[in-house]
Amino acid sequence: MPTDNSTVFDIVIAGGGMAGSTLAWALLKLNPALKLAIIEQQADSVSPVSFDSRSIALAAASSALLQRWGLWDELSSKACAIKHIHVSDRGHFGKTNITAAEYQQSALGYVLEVEHLGALLSKKLAGQRQLSRFAPASISSITPQQQQQQLTLADGRALSAKLLVIAEGGLSRSRALAGFTVQQRQYQQHAVIANLALAQPHQHSAYERFTEHGPIALLPLPQQRYSLVYTVDDSAVEHIMQLDDAAFVDHVQQAFGYRAGVFSAAGKRVSYPLSLRLSGDIVRHRVALLGNSLHNLHPIAGQGFNLALRDIAQLVQQVAAYGNDIGGYTMLRAYQHARRQDINIVSTATDALVRLFSNRSRPLALARNVGLLAMTLCDDLKRPLAEQAMGLRS
Ligand SMILES: Cc1cc2nc3c(=O)[nH]c(=O)nc-3n(C[C@H](O)[C@H](O)[C@H](O)COP(=O)(O)OP(=O)(O)OC[C@H]3O[C@@H](n4cnc5c(N)ncnc54)[C@H](O)[C@@H]3O)c2cc1C
Repeated sequence: MPTDNSTVFDIVIAGGGMAGSTLAWALLKLNPALKLAIIEQQADSVSPVSFDSRSIALAAASSALLQRWGLWDELSSKACAIKHIHVSDRGHFGKTNITAAEYQQSALGYVLEVEHLGALLSKKLAGQRQLSRFAPASISSITPQQQQQQLTLADGRALSAKLLVIAEGGLSRSRALAGFTVQQRQYQQHAVIANLALAQPHQHSAYERFTEHGPIALLPLPQQRYSLVYTVDDSAVEHIMQLDDAAFVDHVQQAFGYRAGVFSAAGKRVSYPLSLRLSGDIVRHRVALLGNSLHNLHPIAGQGFNLALRDIAQLVQQVAAYGNDIGGYTMLRAYQHARRQDINIVSTATDALVRLFSNRSRPLALARNVGLLAMTLCDDLKRPLAEQAMGLRS
């Protein structure tokens, strides 16, 4: 990427994480003549806070979007197909098995370590002369003008953009500078993630199990490994993070049981505090929100990046449709209109399920039988649950 030699852009993307970098690439695929900038607070070419050691479950529709943008061919060999999902409740009867074959698919979805996406985007974006990267940098003021947004960076540099896209994650500062308000709920929970090595092949099975310690998701990875997402109450996280590796493997094995096999080793552990942050508006004058800045959800449902990819697809579609007035009122209204319902359904269902699972009472049949991951990957399971959560079904 060239260093900045001009300050007037079609689109400035604040935040060069998973959503912002993917958007930049998708926009350049659409129109290589667009003049773009990324403003990222991390100095590295790939943001280590976004492209960290986590793995993500991608719905089949999401891998199709990555294919459309020319990214999937290089990622598919590093991703692991999910062919079965097992949802169960530890210590109780009743479990659900969903297989790709039931849906006449070769896979229900894929699991990808996000560092692979980061490395690929870094390589692809590096050669783009139309893309300027300001990093480490952040926006300190946003001044709306009729045909553009005037931006001042913390180091005093000034830029202008027909459209500012804010993709700074859940704690975005520019979102507040641009006047958006956010609804928040703290779940008083953390997600602990780690990769687990297995003593036997996982057969492309993903597991979701509700245990007395909290829900545990196991996502299959290449080389006989699982990606673990373990949701625990805030009061338990410190103890779990401080266990040595052998004691941690033992703890997860005892909590989960042996249904998914014998865990032989654990990789690096990372914990994330969990909350819901939803912006009231999706757009304002010449500003659009994207990814976690728009909808920061509980990760056990594996919905966040899938939703962000659909945000990106819509924004790219509207830039294509309104290329002569990028960032104009009609374009942004169309983006907002196209995204609102999907975000409402997914965020409402995810939040409702998280609260149901945190409630230790038994009569949670629908939620427990469907499971969060299954809901993510099988669209027709999501809608009835969401409709119930939103009070549209009795
Ligand atoms: C444990 C876990 C598991 C998950 N599993 C899944 C899954 O299975 N499937 C799925 O779809 N999703 C999953 N997600 C969600 C997914 O990780 C997020 O949706 C995704 O990271 C959102 O990307 P983003 O770019 O919007 O935000 P972020 O990843 O937060 O990136 C924001 C970027 O903006 C930069 N930034 C922040 N503030 C500023 C500023 N003021 N100025 C400049 N730059 C700034 C940051 O440095 C960062 O690079 C999971 C999340 C977690 C935590």
